[in-house]
Amino acid sequence: MKRVAVIGLGTMGPGIAQRLARGGLVVTAFDTQDDQIEKAKAMLPLIAGALDRLGITPQPGGEVRFTASLADAVKDADLVIENVPEKIEIKAEVYRALDGLIGPNTLVVSDTSGIPISTLQEHISHPERFCGMHWSNPPHIIPMIEVISGAKTAPETAEAIVALIEELGLLPVVINKDVPGFVENRILYALLREAIDLVEEGVIAPEALDTCVSWGIGYKLSVIGPMALLDVAGLDIYHSVASFLNRELSARADIAPFITKRVDEKRLGLKTGGGVYAYTPERAKELIAERARKLVAVRRALEERDPS
Ligand code: NAD
Repeated sequence: MKRVAVIGLGTMGPGIAQRLARGGLVVTAFDTQDDQIEKAKAMLPLIAGALDRLGITPQPGGEVRFTASLADAVKDADLVIENVPEKIEIKAEVYRALDGLIGPNTLVVSDTSGIPISTLQEHISHPERFCGMHWSNPPHIIPMIEVISGAKTAPETAEAIVALIEELGLLPVVINKDVPGFVENRILYALLREAIDLVEEGVIAPEALDTCVSWGIGYKLSVIGPMALLDVAGLDIYHSVASFLNRELSARADIAPFITKRVDEKRLGLKTGGGVYAYTPERAKELIAERARKLVAVRRALEERDPS
């Protein structure tokens, strides 16, 4: 693969585009909103700084070119990465627009966070050349990418995406069943449901919960995954704790009032100056920069750790 089109330049698109360009690919980037294109251009130097700190050296020939139309972006593309909002009708519109613009060998992937790939496949005219390629945010820093086949995905399509991820020096994780949310988000949402419930029930304050998770299990999980953790802790220990604890855990199927109340009040998080916590615009910017800095430092430490 030499040429990749990234469609949608919001939270995810710019980091994906820049990471692919670092790997020597010619990336064409498109968004329907001019201001999003301008924002993406402004972000590229910051993203490049993080990639430099990660020690990811630029491969020859790689570049990001911004285009003014979808047709220009996907012309001669070997791969199209769709990064538009998580709404089936918006994604379907992009897939319809690709008809007649892409060649017979072009692969198309969606960065959907959890819409089943078989559902999205209903809206594309070449479903065998379509699969899920789910990056994690921030995509230029997190190395793991989920690859998901739908019912009509040809095995060669997913294989080509896995090969591309490996060539970039990133970590493909193949998901065997096309379940909603795939795996990363199912685990995250299970954790968030319990965390929100504990805060809502007054068991713990939000700040204390964040300390508990980040410096307890969060810190540990970046070194040893949950399945290996079972072995380290002992399956007998899990068996006895789970025998009374599983039934205590939140199993609510609706969304907790803690969230719906804030959403109704337009307290959406960083973008509105507050959600769980309050943020000044300066603090919001600082937090994003701090997150990137710390993620780079942690990744470097994990990659350099002594295998013994
Ligand atoms: P976003 O809303 O920040 O950005 C989407 C961009 O798509 C916007 O800039 C919008 O102008 C553009 N767009 C809308 N319609 C378009 C069209 N027809 N053609 C071209 N551009 C169009 O969204 P995001 O957070 O970057 O998410 C994109 C996808 O990636 C979603 O499917 C999301 O679920 C997934 N994802 C998001 C995250 C995350 O943390 N934000 C993580 C992993 C995956």
